[in-house]
Amino acid sequence: IFLPHLAASLEVEETYIMIKPDGVQRGLVGEIISRFEKKGFKLTGLKLFECPKELAEEHYKDLQSKSFFPNLISYITSGPVVCMAWEGVGVVESARKLIGATNPLNAMPGTIRGDLAVQTGRNVVHGSDSPENGIREIALWFKEGELCKWAPTIDPWLNEIN
Ligand code: UDP
Ligand code: MG
Repeated sequence: IFLPHLAASLEVEETYIMIKPDGVQRGLVGEIISRFEKKGFKLTGLKLFECPKELAEEHYKDLQSKSFFPNLISYITSGPVVCMAWEGVGVVESARKLIGATNPLNAMPGTIRGDLAVQTGRNVVHGSDSPENGIREIALWFKEGELCKWAPTIDPWLNEIN
């Protein structure tokens, strides 16, 4: 049965997904992008980028006081990253599920970290943890004009309501 009131209440969100330098070095870019594409989310931004230290520090500012912070910043700035913006209904939480637990040893098989990584400090991918942070992080990593607001022709086959 079709429940228009339920479908209409589903929120379109944006999330910032980043393939970390280990993912790029290990040749996992295509594999990781594929997982979000196949799920049915819409890619709205994509670039290979060498992250300046200040940007890494701003992105992870909530973790400033943690003992691992300096290592985290040198990890993220150790090589190019792939920056992505993805859009979709419930994309923030769904992407976090596709990514898996922060510690790859606790991440379920089938998730990106569960399948492709072993260490927290080399966990191959980032995903925003809330819709607010999705918006904040996309604004931080992308400039005006780098995002494409397009309408995939396949949309009606993925979403009841567009
Ligand atoms: N991290 C780390 N050691 C820790 C916790 C986190 O090196 O004990 C790194 C790891 O790369 C993680 C990132 O810091 O992905 C951000 O931590 P957060 O808790 O936000 O995990 P995430 O949201 O990425 O799952
Ligand atoms: Mg986080």
